[in-house]
Amino acid sequence: MSTTISEADALYQRVAHVIPRVEWATMVDDVQAILRLKAEKNAVILAHNYMTPEIYHGVADIVGDSLALAREATKVDADVIVLAGVHFMAETAKLLNPSKTVLIPDLRSGCSLAESVTPEDVRALRAAHPGVPVVTYVNTSAAVKAESDICCTSGNAVKIIESLGVDEVIMIPDQFLAANIGAQTGVKMIVHPGACEVHERFTPDDIETIREGNPGVTVIAHPECPRPVVLASDFSGSTAQMQDFIEKERPRKVALITECSMSDNIAQNHPEIDFIRPCNMCPHMKRNTLAAIRHSLETLTNVVELDPATAAPARQAIERMLAVK
Ligand code: SF4
Repeated sequence: MSTTISEADALYQRVAHVIPRVEWATMVDDVQAILRLKAEKNAVILAHNYMTPEIYHGVADIVGDSLALAREATKVDADVIVLAGVHFMAETAKLLNPSKTVLIPDLRSGCSLAESVTPEDVRALRAAHPGVPVVTYVNTSAAVKAESDICCTSGNAVKIIESLGVDEVIMIPDQFLAANIGAQTGVKMIVHPGACEVHERFTPDDIETIREGNPGVTVIAHPECPRPVVLASDFSGSTAQMQDFIEKERPRKVALITECSMSDNIAQNHPEIDFIRPCNMCPHMKRNTLAAIRHSLETLTNVVELDPATAAPARQAIERMLAVK
């Protein structure tokens, strides 16, 4: 299939504000091949907000945070789902679409949070705190979800905790998210010492330096950041909540305290906003490349499979979360 100059130019306009044309020239062949393969194989691409702009704006059908991707995964009408994100997200898509083929571009796309906790850890916490509900962040394996009462994301954690109507929960595996949500809800958190390797590195000194160098800047931190970083910021929320805040408040200058691609992806749609970029990169998210997506679609490889005995209770924990309005 040949692509006319105007079609190619329309494709470039999707990323023109954040990718130089000379760089785009090295990407456009893969982008066009992926668009063709999606049509041929009746495939959709679900992409996390931390994907690079050529994936996020160039080939994705649905973009969002973990919550949005989980919700959208229940509505997908396609034979093949490519999850451009990390492994636990692809597992969630498979849990919610057991009859569909779910692909992940690179099977090595892990997550420091998901790797920090095992099913045995959950059973030990339950034994030490009988009767206390286990709320598990979606950034975990299906095997850990299977041991849990309900899942949450950073976008809905407050709502999920409040829906339980208890004054104490076991919240795993992110100690910082638990501390931030505990402070917001007043619910006592029994935690596990997990952390996101991207967000745990930010410090209050970083925020101070950003403010000194950028008078008037609005600082927005992800709740996976340590509590002192959140306290030093103007607003804290999931990546979707960050976007909503920007849409509503239209700050002139913004620093997003999160993964690097987040600012790039929003900046494409908001050239009027000055994004200060004090980011840390997630090496797992960055395993998703155009070449990996193209290869996975061409060969239908890197298929995500789940043991049915694990999948059933894990699905229940996700569905309980999705049922909370
Ligand atoms: S940004 Fe953090 S939580 Fe997200 S995938 Fe990377 S390591 Fe995991």
